[in-house]
Amino acid sequence: MPLIIVTGWPTSGKTTRSKQLHEYLAKRIADTKYRLHFISDDSLSISRSVYDLSPDKVPAHARSANASEKDARAAIYGAVKRVLSDKDIVILDGLNYIKGWRYQLHCEAKAVRTPSCILQIGCAKDKAKEINEERLSRREAGHIPAEGEPEPYEPGNWENLVFRHEEPNPMTRWDSPLFALVWDDNEDQTREVFDTLWDSIAGEGRKVVRPNQ
Ligand code: ADP
Ligand code: MG
Repeated sequence: MPLIIVTGWPTSGKTTRSKQLHEYLAKRIADTKYRLHFISDDSLSISRSVYDLSPDKVPAHARSANASEKDARAAIYGAVKRVLSDKDIVILDGLNYIKGWRYQLHCEAKAVRTPSCILQIGCAKDKAKEINEERLSRREAGHIPAEGEPEPYEPGNWENLVFRHEEPNPMTRWDSPLFALVWDDNEDQTREVFDTLWDSIAGEGRKVVRPNQ
């Protein structure tokens, strides 16, 4: 069953939409033999700081500026690989902003003969930035995030992640099929996108995945 790779800018609503999709799929697979998994930086306790390339933010023990991010990707990859099969649906909620990384995940899915797809979350830059700034000011005011509550990105880290983001290209095998949701999509529009997603990768119209495709 499919690997659903969620992608989008930092604080653009990825987790919110991933949770909605989780709820939707949980209903669809009730009373079937399929299982559903939710993997994210938060579920693996990966800190936002692993994405921070500013020299003063790199921990002293890190091998290089992006070694901690590579380690995080290895942890995510391992977590996906452990559960993905033709009976398991995996929602991978995260930035997933590197083209080569999405390619790697796509190949992993293909290796277990299951489809993969992209769910792209769109949001105006100002809006996404505002969300992060709200989280930063709450932290400044002394708020300590509860368990599972997301931490903010440092402002430079946030900007840099937007800059580094590699938009999915649905013309490529690994970025397709591609489904998109934007901030203002209401419940009906969201359901429609989820229905299309389900039909194309899990429903009757599901494409058979062959290793040489
Ligand atoms: P991300 O996972 O991309 O960092 P989140 O899903 O944590 O982003 O969203 C950040 C905040 O924005 C959350 O507080 C959430 O309630 C709010 N939010 C996200 N998406 C929407 C939306 N489509 N409409 C309204 N509020 C949203
Ligand atoms: Mg999130």
